[in-house]
Amino acid sequence: MKKELKEQYAAMGISKEVLSYGEKTEKALKGRFEEIDETAEYNQLKVLRAMQEHKVGEACLSGTTGYGYNDLGRDTLEKVYASVFHTEDALVRPQITCGTHALALALMSNLRPGDELLSPAGKPYDTLEEVIGIRPSKGSLKEYGISYRQVDLLPDGGFDYEKIREAIGERTRLVTIQRSKGYQTRPTFSVARIGELIGFIKKIKPDIICMVDNCYGEFVERTEPTDAGADMAVGSLIKNPGGGLAPIGGYIAGKKECVENAAFRLTSPGLGREVGASLGILRSFYQGLFLAPTVTAAALKGAVFAANIYEKLGFPVIPDGQESRHDIIQAVTFGTPEGVTAFCQGIQSAAPVDGYVSPEPWDMPGYDAKVIMAAGAFVSGSSIELSADGPIKPPYAVYFQGGLTWQHAKFGILKSLQTLVDRGIVSKLFP
Ligand SMILES: *Cc1c(COP(=O)(O)O)cnc(C)c1O
Repeated sequence: MKKELKEQYAAMGISKEVLSYGEKTEKALKGRFEEIDETAEYNQLKVLRAMQEHKVGEACLSGTTGYGYNDLGRDTLEKVYASVFHTEDALVRPQITCGTHALALALMSNLRPGDELLSPAGKPYDTLEEVIGIRPSKGSLKEYGISYRQVDLLPDGGFDYEKIREAIGERTRLVTIQRSKGYQTRPTFSVARIGELIGFIKKIKPDIICMVDNCYGEFVERTEPTDAGADMAVGSLIKNPGGGLAPIGGYIAGKKECVENAAFRLTSPGLGREVGASLGILRSFYQGLFLAPTVTAAALKGAVFAANIYEKLGFPVIPDGQESRHDIIQAVTFGTPEGVTAFCQGIQSAAPVDGYVSPEPWDMPGYDAKVIMAAGAFVSGSSIELSADGPIKPPYAVYFQGGLTWQHAKFGILKSLQTLVDRGIVSKLFP
């Protein structure tokens, strides 16, 4: 490393020891990083090709107001998404407020009273519990007479095919599969594994709609769940596909009928996708999608780097330093409240926005323990930007994700380690 760069790191509070430990770790990851870059290259061309194929022009970048009839940019963007995901259709809107909303919309619009929803891969993401009605909530699927069934994963993390077969009945209409582990400890599913599961289900009942919660998974691999038989892939634009630029939004890419159902539910029966002004937001949606493959690669490198940095210091990490990756989330278990707090404060101190504030654990609504969150993002709550959070309860683990550039992700992780070293939580860097 050149002297000037070392001086930069020193000026930003990174000690020689932490820097050299980081350098050593990074060197050993050269092969992994090359693979990640190659996937980004593949996906960059995929996105570019979709934009050219649908003749994205300057006129697409400005938006409409009012009802939003004949919104060329909005309609073209939806075609671009459909091309990227190799689906018949897509709905990509700022009126879809977040990932949970996109998932709720896909479910509520494609299920009818009397239908049953099946989760064949265990408990879905926390916020979906209220959507489904696992936890009672106003407006849940349960209130509308839609029942829910769940088959848990086997102890080894595999699909329980026997129980899944038994769970599929006359009323089973839709199956929901969550690609990312989210904040659970099971492994994230690869697209190939999701494909096997969908194949099995469709063999038993071909007309079941298979929906994949694609949050955090977009562009991590060369294929998406819709390439492996999913009828719908659903996600948030303030995660991977928004490339850090989209300030709001969600998408549903899939079969024409599924997407149409969602459009009629999002706006109104009779109006569907024809309304919904894009205002001034389309440039960020297009440009964000264009950057998404490389931004996702940066976040992925950060996750792999963090796993290797902390694994070698003796902290349990999921996934481990060598495992293949299917999402951008990294869990590190520190085993003490001080470890969790130091890590998150270190990440925060590396932020471009609010880097001068220090987060503290607090009683967040909906959680049974105090939670500490590090987020110094340009887009509030965006988790494709460098961010981390950890509940202050055993096993005292943090969940780390994002980083718009690899250089920033690297700096954030070094800063977290520096904070742990400064507080005496980590004492030996070269054990
Ligand atoms: C983030 C996430 C969601 C919900 O998205 P929000 O935008 O936070 O509502 C759902 N599922 C998974 C797996 C997620 O990671």
